[in-house]
Amino acid sequence: MSDTPRPYRSYVYAYPHKTAYRALPERPGLAALWADEPKDALSLYAHIPFCEVRCGFCNLFTRIGAPDELTTRYLDALDRQAVAVREALGDASPVRFATAAFGGGTPTFLTAAELERLCDIAEKRMGADLRAVPLSVETSPATATADRLAVLADRGATRLSIGVQSFVEAEARAAVRPQRRADVEAALGRIRDAGVPVLNIDLIYGIDGQTERSWRFSLDAALAWRPEELYLYPLYVRPLTGLGRIQDPAAADREWDEQRLRLYRYGRDHLLAHGYEQVSMRMFRRADAGPAGPDDYACQTDGMIGLGCGARSYTSDLHYSFDYAVDMREIRSIIDAYTETEDFSRAEVGRAVDGDEARRRHLLQSLLQAEGMPVAGYEERFGSSPFADFGPELARFEEYGWIADAPAGLLRLSPEGLAHSDGLGPELFSPAVRAAMAAYEAK
Ligand code: SF4
Repeated sequence: MSDTPRPYRSYVYAYPHKTAYRALPERPGLAALWADEPKDALSLYAHIPFCEVRCGFCNLFTRIGAPDELTTRYLDALDRQAVAVREALGDASPVRFATAAFGGGTPTFLTAAELERLCDIAEKRMGADLRAVPLSVETSPATATADRLAVLADRGATRLSIGVQSFVEAEARAAVRPQRRADVEAALGRIRDAGVPVLNIDLIYGIDGQTERSWRFSLDAALAWRPEELYLYPLYVRPLTGLGRIQDPAAADREWDEQRLRLYRYGRDHLLAHGYEQVSMRMFRRADAGPAGPDDYACQTDGMIGLGCGARSYTSDLHYSFDYAVDMREIRSIIDAYTETEDFSRAEVGRAVDGDEARRRHLLQSLLQAEGMPVAGYEERFGSSPFADFGPELARFEEYGWIADAPAGLLRLSPEGLAHSDGLGPELFSPAVRAAMAAYEAK
């Protein structure tokens, strides 16, 4: 086997990454963009970019706190955006949302009354029937209060996802955020009391000083709640202690890669032995949990409407959003600009995802799932074979031992391929997307 790429290059949760988006000079109108799109199985996403603290590992588009009634002004803007977007979708063909999610940031940073308002915007402005479709909401231990959870349960939330990261207080302090185990357990108890069908717990591995033993402690503490889903995330920001003190950065990275791969395999095997199925490198689902509700949304092909200044929207050939930043000051000014926006009728920043890019996206989104990609579905959509379109890449993956012996008609990763999802994904980025991302990072 030849040298494989590093296992932790980037988490490909959406392709292309927002750092490959650019200002759209023609600022296309949303009504024209959506005119000929199928709109009967859309996904609705609302982004709430506020958190009570900044977690050490986080590079999401979010700010700490919301001074001067900022949440009110933000929801006012979200309301204006929803009105403009719904108008642009028109009524010439049926508009229906098949799934909805509130993410962030921390949506439960909003008060119970503000969450009611957010649900009202989704329902009354956009026309999403929240009680009839899967509705997923992210939360945190400190903000998962009984009053907020009651609102979400009442309005139809089917899934609550809580970022715990580690049940070991010292690990949480080292890499995440200071939190007391007792507070985390109390929050989980409130979530279970709220009666939302699916509980997801996020955990992180690769923290300084974390061992198989301490990792198992966190896994078992999570398993005690019998969560329907568990996400195991590799840590991406190397802590400045421990490994960070090794003089040779390449040696430190290698050692850290090995620690993360070891803990990943341990966590995966532990969950598989406790009745969970692997859905992707990060996601595990309790085998006896059953589906959370109707799910007829296909992420490869169906459109998405994003509300809020960090949210993306997808038509079949354009991904668009607002300006993007990772620097805290820039994020604050983008949020401020969003709250002052009156005209939401145009797409400002984005990237075309057609032809070759649509093929890459389809392959990435399917191959990184444990069940693999039905080859016929790809061929039907694009009129070509993935083996012809991505011959050299797939041959390389085969050589690395990343492709499984799957049943005929299925292209599936081996367990090692899945373990290396974050190294494999970037191998499928187009040269143009790589160049745009590199130019962004160089800024
Ligand atoms: S709560 Fe979530 S979004 Fe907020 S800083 Fe922590 S990880 Fe990032």
